[in-house]
Amino acid sequence: MSVELDLSRKPAAPVAANLAGLGREGLRQAMIGAGVEEKKARMRANQLWRWIYHYGVTDFAKMTDVAKELRGSLSEKFVLERPPINMAQTSVDGTRKWLVGYGPNTEAECVYIPDVGKAGALCVSSQVGCTLTCSFCHTGTQKLVRNLSAAEIVNQVMVARDALEEWPTSNEDRRLTNIVFMGMGEPLYNLDNVVEALETIGDGDGISISKRRITVSTAGVAPKIPELGKRTGAMLAISLHATNDDLRDELVPLNKKYDLKELFDAIRAYPDLSNSKRVTFEYVMLKGINDTLAEARDLVRLLKGVPSKINLIPFNPWPGTKYECSDWETIEAFAEVLNRAGYASPIRTPRGRDILAACGQLRSESVKQKASERLAARLAEKEASAEG
Ligand code: SAH
Repeated sequence: MSVELDLSRKPAAPVAANLAGLGREGLRQAMIGAGVEEKKARMRANQLWRWIYHYGVTDFAKMTDVAKELRGSLSEKFVLERPPINMAQTSVDGTRKWLVGYGPNTEAECVYIPDVGKAGALCVSSQVGCTLTCSFCHTGTQKLVRNLSAAEIVNQVMVARDALEEWPTSNEDRRLTNIVFMGMGEPLYNLDNVVEALETIGDGDGISISKRRITVSTAGVAPKIPELGKRTGAMLAISLHATNDDLRDELVPLNKKYDLKELFDAIRAYPDLSNSKRVTFEYVMLKGINDTLAEARDLVRLLKGVPSKINLIPFNPWPGTKYECSDWETIEAFAEVLNRAGYASPIRTPRGRDILAACGQLRSESVKQKASERLAARLAEKEASAEG
């Protein structure tokens, strides 16, 4: 593992002044703010769009087809800044994690995982922290919680593109091909911003990651599930983890609000499901809790009639958790039941565990702390997880 701390970067400029991350309408408004006539604002915004999201420029001076005078007035009023990266880490397996700063004491993590999806996937956060308190998830133990704006979500993708040196957008040999909303937070509690971010990320004239390669994962906010599909066309993932209400109430307390019956009614109403557009079910393997063969068979019964894929996630430990990961033989036997029922290769290899970048390990401090203290805390956490 390697850790870099960058203490030299300034805090981000006020969000209103930063054009990087805005949607098309936001950019149009900004053009009007910079003195562009209203009837030309859309055209100018489209020009800027390409520079920001296709070329990834951070300097108005590089926008050679924009009149010099306008470039001048844009650079007086606006910036094209990335949020500061308060920590960057690389795992021994190539997974990379960035701790992105969004303001005083407000940070969220995003994780690039090579060899996932078509070439590599970025796991993005939709909130700082999470309100759901799933009992096996580290993020739920974090105090500060707020929604990220659409621009703040888009900026995670831009930060990753910068680090992977993937500007301008190319259609060949990309390393970042897929996006999963499986970082911190519950995306369906921040649906409007997630929808706007998806529009920007998916736009073919810019970052251009197709909706078919963007997966939004939810713990099961049933009333919002069909709406997500209608508004975005994204792929759906459900954090299931249990096959009966009693156990799911305990693992994913949101189940008390929307039980399995209501959840599955909502899933069945997700638009356009088919064998080529399947729902991904995530199932964390917890030793002695949800890993019997009877539960594997219950899972097969529960998914009947829903075009599905299953991801078995070996539990990733974190400091202070009461759970353990199921034994490997147990996971394989569980997988075998699913395989025989027609579900292929469902065990997800843990990635980036050494830097606490694996599923459910994300948690930002988001309280006042000096960078040196943060580093010390991280190293202590790492040691604790290596021992656990
Ligand atoms: N709130 C959304 C998005 C988070 S996705 C959701 O719940 O779907 C993160 C995924 O990692 C979820 O499936 C979550 O249940 C799973 N997860 C959480 N903690 C984990 C852990 N310690 N080990 C393995 N998977 C975990």
